[in-house]
Amino acid sequence: MNYIDLRSDTFTVPTPPMLEAMCKAVVGDDVWGEDPTVIELQEFAAGLLGKEAALFVPSGTMANQIGVAINTKTGDEIIVDADAHIFYYEAGGPSIISRVQCRSIKTSDGIIPESSIIGAIRGLDVHFPRTSLICLENTHNRHGGTIIPLDYIQGIRKIADEHNIAMHCDGARLWNSCIAAGVSPAEYAAPFDTVSVCLSKGLGAPIGSLITGTKEKIASALRWRKVLGGGMRQVGIIAAAGLYALQNNYSLLVQDHENAKKFAEYIAESEFISIDLNNVQTNIVLFHIPETIGIDKFASVCLEKGLKIAGMGGSTVRAVFYYQIS
Ligand SMILES: *Cc1c(COP(=O)(O)O)cnc(C)c1O
Repeated sequence: MNYIDLRSDTFTVPTPPMLEAMCKAVVGDDVWGEDPTVIELQEFAAGLLGKEAALFVPSGTMANQIGVAINTKTGDEIIVDADAHIFYYEAGGPSIISRVQCRSIKTSDGIIPESSIIGAIRGLDVHFPRTSLICLENTHNRHGGTIIPLDYIQGIRKIADEHNIAMHCDGARLWNSCIAAGVSPAEYAAPFDTVSVCLSKGLGAPIGSLITGTKEKIASALRWRKVLGGGMRQVGIIAAAGLYALQNNYSLLVQDHENAKKFAEYIAESEFISIDLNNVQTNIVLFHIPETIGIDKFASVCLEKGLKIAGMGGSTVRAVFYYQIS
């Protein structure tokens, strides 16, 4: 059976021209800094995001964990919303790798109010950990691919500056925000010290993420990538897919957003599905089914009809749109 798989935009597969770019990639040993395709991708991504440097890493999780590591010291505290990938889905990485603790703040929409951030920042006191980093996620995955407004981020930057705190953006789907909000990647990245981005979500590359920042931060990121075992060799084969994705698939994300909206409007007509259409801003659709049905039953009925969807906890269902979904 041919399934329509809406579980995640990580189910994208490389297209024939992307595979061709991979086959033709000029490669070298990237641990020695000698893979020309990786260098090209890093320079291209740094340029796109308006940062001095970028580092290619195997996954978004590693990019985020390196982002935490290079902006903190052991024993620090980082401010993060309770549904952020860094806190919710990265297996406790901040406490294992950077040995920092997370001050997680529950929000209704993934946007931590300024007052909550100010309230969470620690003063100078021997009893307290040092607050050294604020992490924001754009788009926000667990809140349904929602866009974080640029003026909000700029406001948080002012607060961070007043307290000498760094900022990291989990931009796994920053591209979707840029397309939907009409904000350039560089504008969105500017308020942050470091930004991580994924090539393996809606952009359609099979593997790969990047962390970007100043030359100094990325030099430190390179060390952390080595520590974490993320140094790869002739990885230009994969970098070529990422470069192809950024150069060719980026503008196609608009189609995924349209498809998500159409799907959302269609299912909203069903009397037993509840959905907030205002929340459908990019390529992710969250909706709720009656608790009496339950996600397992719902998913198995969908599967019988050829549709794969994912539960997001409770009676919340997620459908994600990407290149291979027409
Ligand atoms: C997917 C994702 C990541 C992590 O990427 P992996 O490559 O799966 O490790 C990080 N943050 C967000 C918001 C994501 O959706």
